[in-house]
Amino acid sequence: MVDFHRPRDLSEALQIRAATAAVPLAGGTDLLVRYRNWAGTLPRIDRPVLYVGHLAELRSVDVAGNGSGPGMIIGAAVTYSELLEHPTTPQLLRDSIIELAAPGLRNVATLAGNICNASPAADAACALYALNAEVELAGPGGRRRIPIAEFITGPGTTVLKADELLTAVHLPPDRSTVQYYRKVGTRHANALSKLSLCACARVADRRVTQIGIAVGAVAPTIVKAPRIEQQLQGAGIEQVVSQIPDALRQYGQLIRPIDDQRSTADYRRHVALALIEQFLARELR
Ligand SMILES: Cc1cc2nc3c(=O)[nH]c(=O)nc-3n(C[C@H](O)[C@H](O)[C@H](O)COP(=O)(O)OP(=O)(O)OC[C@H]3O[C@@H](n4cnc5c(N)ncnc54)[C@H](O)[C@@H]3O)c2cc1C
Repeated sequence: MVDFHRPRDLSEALQIRAATAAVPLAGGTDLLVRYRNWAGTLPRIDRPVLYVGHLAELRSVDVAGNGSGPGMIIGAAVTYSELLEHPTTPQLLRDSIIELAAPGLRNVATLAGNICNASPAADAACALYALNAEVELAGPGGRRRIPIAEFITGPGTTVLKADELLTAVHLPPDRSTVQYYRKVGTRHANALSKLSLCACARVADRRVTQIGIAVGAVAPTIVKAPRIEQQLQGAGIEQVVSQIPDALRQYGQLIRPIDDQRSTADYRRHVALALIEQFLARELR
């Protein structure tokens, strides 16, 4: 038997988490697969479970406007389907969700689960890297906010403490004029990525004023390189094209894929670099 907690509110959820280190459950689409058992039998969960999918404090989407447009605060229990319906969801995030699993799963699964599962192949998390998202964590000591790239530390590992919950994802205003999402998998629906590229940029007067590039499933964590992005930022489109060989050389050092059941390291490296080149050479206009 597993202890299953369904707290009344976030405060009670945090108390239970602190007292029992119960494993949080939102949509369950990663967690229940991780603990799967023989067909027809219950999952083999070896810890208390803390259901958070119903908590009102985690179910809202707030639009936090500032001078450069609307940013978003997405509650940890908001589902992908709800995000697809929301008018301010950035196009790049929308594109990643549309190709994630299938509608039935998107009706229950969450961004928070995708982030906390910390897979380098997590598709929505990859878009969140490109969009410079931050995660908000709550625990007995209060709340803290950190960039997603600092939250995820390796395959399946994060800096989430045993008494904390992820409560929200913060997105800065999305001012991109170009979005480029490519998920490379064996089929469109219900396929995990061999690799993915999530990229966006703001181009004004043929100049790149902002750029974000994230590559999934090619290293222990999603690859995002602010240093390379800074080199490209401010450049004219033609200058960006001339910088491509140097950018690809630098990305080549960060891309460290593995062979597994979904693909080979060689294929992943080759296609990831080809997609970055395609984005920089053909999409920025
Ligand atoms: C058939 C199928 C297809 C899939 N296809 C894709 C795909 O195409 N792309 C992709 O990226 N993923 C895919 N997935 C994986 C999964 O659906 C996603 O990662 C999803 O976003 C997980 O969200 P969830 O709410 O179900 O998380 P859960 O399973 O509930 O939780 C996942 C992890 O996050 C933790 N967690 C959840 N909420 C919180 C919180 N608020 N605070 C702290 N920790 C928390 C849990 O403890 C657990 O460790 C697929 C899964 C299945 C079964």
